[in-house]
Amino acid sequence: QVKAEILAVGTELLLGQIANTNAQWLSVRLADMGVNVFFHGVVGDNEERMRHQMEQANGRSDIVIVTGGLGPTDDDVTREVASEVLGLSIEEEHEALRDIEAYFEANNRQMTPNNRRQARMLKGSTILSNHVGMAPGFAVTNEGTTWIFLPGVPREMKAIMDDGGFELIRSHFSLEDTIQSRMLRFISIGESHLAHDLQDLLDQQTNPTIAPLAAKGEVALRITAKAQTKEAANKLIDHTEASVLDRVGMYCYGKDDDTLESTVFHMLKEQKETISAAESLTGGRFIDQVVSQQGASSVCNGGVVCYATAVKEQVLEVPKLIINEYGTVSETCAVNLAVNIANKLNSSIGISFTGVAGPDPVEGQPVGTVYIGIYKDGEQPFAKKFHFHGDREEIRQRSVKKGFELLYH
Ligand code: ATP
Ligand code: MG
Repeated sequence: QVKAEILAVGTELLLGQIANTNAQWLSVRLADMGVNVFFHGVVGDNEERMRHQMEQANGRSDIVIVTGGLGPTDDDVTREVASEVLGLSIEEEHEALRDIEAYFEANNRQMTPNNRRQARMLKGSTILSNHVGMAPGFAVTNEGTTWIFLPGVPREMKAIMDDGGFELIRSHFSLEDTIQSRMLRFISIGESHLAHDLQDLLDQQTNPTIAPLAAKGEVALRITAKAQTKEAANKLIDHTEASVLDRVGMYCYGKDDDTLESTVFHMLKEQKETISAAESLTGGRFIDQVVSQQGASSVCNGGVVCYATAVKEQVLEVPKLIINEYGTVSETCAVNLAVNIANKLNSSIGISFTGVAGPDPVEGQPVGTVYIGIYKDGEQPFAKKFHFHGDREEIRQRSVKKGFELLYH
């Protein structure tokens, strides 16, 4: 098996100012062509630490892809450090220099002596041309390891790989396998509960491998298989998927790019339902999610952001008596809001959100207390009480997610 690693260079990555999307993109593409990516590294523009990373990479990987730090300024030291580590001198490539000069000419800009540096490559390199920017990438093979050096700018990095980088990898290694992944998406089941129900599958896994992941109030299961063809890999995945769904299929709402929001939306559309929302703490976020779906007009009539008590009372006609007796953060208020919004906007379903987003308690209720009310035409309306953790943003986000979850059932 061919082992690769990706080394991203840039202090802004370490400072958290930008995310390492280069490594993410490269990893997806490499997996697709059957290359195992075993390490992601990130270093700043620092010679010593970069040397350390490159020395490690040299011994353990067949392919090392380095992005960033190839620019014209003094803090761009990638090629200098690589030269030291690989014991290859740096030489100016005539062809690369011609490309850079042509780039400046075509863009009517003045070339500075600094830019000349970007034609410098390790001795014996293959130039990887750059059709969307100035500086080319380059590749060199040293003691069995193929090194690929790319600019940090994502658009250029991608173009260079698509134009010649991946082809170069294919020509150096015989790649017989492909790695395919599928995500199964679950709701109303926690990560540990899911893992528990799948324990023996998790214990036995080799190919495919399966891994539970939790994010934003949902759980997903990644199934990854390796085989000689996509079809064969997908067949292995199908088989594992069937065993998984046998156990926990009742919680699975979708796959891959499906979202709970779009799944619920399509369900409502199919059932010819219409929905309206009365939103206090969510401030319109629920309706925003519904309207984000294509074809929303057939499902969504609209909503009211009833943040202030006066709006709940005057616009949505929750009786003063109820508000005085139970408060706005209450089951009764949530039910009233859900029924009234459905009736006022002529929808078959009304949903309401009222609660305490924080940072301060409201009406003696702690931060994170949320009531979600649901009314469906011809059914008994109800409201459920939740306690969400997190800050204001997370509580509002989880409330909306839970609203979709309640509609899914
Ligand atoms: P340049 O010739 O443009 O200076 P470079 O090879 O020196 O290219 P960097 O200066 O490291 O590349 O990065 C250029 C820009 O590309 C950065 O400001 C950043 O926005 C983006 N970038 C760099 N590395 C990454 C990465 N790993 N993931 C996503 N974006 C990145
Ligand atoms: Mg730079």
